[in-house]
Amino acid sequence: MFEQVKAIPGDALLALMVAFKNDPNPNKIDLGVGVYKDDTGNTPILKVVKQAESYLLAHELSKGYIGATGSPELAPLLQKLMLGENHPLIGSGRIATAQTPGGTGALRVAGDLINAVKPEAKIWVSDPTWSNHFHVFAGSGVEVRTYPYYDAQRNALAIDQMLACITQMTAGDVILLHASCHNPTGIDPSFSQWQQISKAVAERGVVPLIDCAYQGFGEGLEEDVQGLRLLVEQCPEALITTSCSKNFGLYNERVGALSVITETSEANQKTMSQVANCIRANYSNPPAHGAAIVCTILSDNTLRQQWEAELAEMRDRIRLMRTTLVKHLKEINCSRDFSFIAEQKGMFSYSGLSKEEVLFLREQHGIYAVDTGRINVAGINANNIERLGFAINQAIQ
Ligand code: PLP
Repeated sequence: MFEQVKAIPGDALLALMVAFKNDPNPNKIDLGVGVYKDDTGNTPILKVVKQAESYLLAHELSKGYIGATGSPELAPLLQKLMLGENHPLIGSGRIATAQTPGGTGALRVAGDLINAVKPEAKIWVSDPTWSNHFHVFAGSGVEVRTYPYYDAQRNALAIDQMLACITQMTAGDVILLHASCHNPTGIDPSFSQWQQISKAVAERGVVPLIDCAYQGFGEGLEEDVQGLRLLVEQCPEALITTSCSKNFGLYNERVGALSVITETSEANQKTMSQVANCIRANYSNPPAHGAAIVCTILSDNTLRQQWEAELAEMRDRIRLMRTTLVKHLKEINCSRDFSFIAEQKGMFSYSGLSKEEVLFLREQHGIYAVDTGRINVAGINANNIERLGFAINQAIQ
């Protein structure tokens, strides 16, 4: 069976991680992989997570299966986090949430659901988008198309082209929108642009699939879901995929969820039976521990406040690194204007660096960014920022 197997090229980002690991340069800088790092370069376990875990260790009673759609406590907690405490959808029967293994698991179940209920629907993703969107939806057998998103000349959202493309989509197609902290560009729509987008999506009868992987990493827990809330208000149907990997720092615990919003509660019940079927065929039921941590934190006032404070600390550090890098590049009279980096949101930045400039940084300075020029701003810290500024200034000469 395996003797004739052809190897396929590995993931470019994983190859970059390996190259970084093998680089003996003591001053190397990792701006590649998409995880949060603190000022010492570590991906920390939040203190509040440790507290929730010690509570769980003392109190959990069983390791029994938790069912295909996962923890029933998680669903209302995540719905409230995304939609707001008293949102009319909650409890209306029009929204249901299934726990999944991470945001990726939610996206895969969403893809499988679309393929099961409307196989002719296409999923439109932004150009560019997180590269795994293509793999995941290909795995589900759904056709993927792209809509314009990034205006390279202005380092800004290509709003006019995006809106024009939405008006050309077939009603009943699905449009994937990043709720906030767009991966890879860091460029999010402004509130008025969200108003235009949600209006266009609703008018066209396209179903929004909102990928909410960074709530709290951009501007704040509420601010980062303003577009999501507009879409849900204006469209009768929507899908939301949630990841708790970044905002709870629970990357390897695999906590996420798929929320399905339907026009009627009858349709919701039927659709959730399809969701449960997709889950059973994929992995039967999700892991319990990470979701139990999230539930413990979100259902306890003190722990929740502590979580919000730790989340704000991560967000503020990222924002500080953005503004400090821009300031430093100005101070050393860098010939290119990088001020847009301070305006972008979340961990990622399309830096505008060309592939040649990225390679120069890697080969001459041991600075690892993605070939597209995407940098993970969380990889910058007080220790390496001056070296990074100096190297960028050299790379663009
Ligand atoms: N969506 C986007 C845009 C992401 O960047 C990521 C992770 O990098 C995910 C979804 C999935 O996150 P996870 O499966 O780790 O929860």
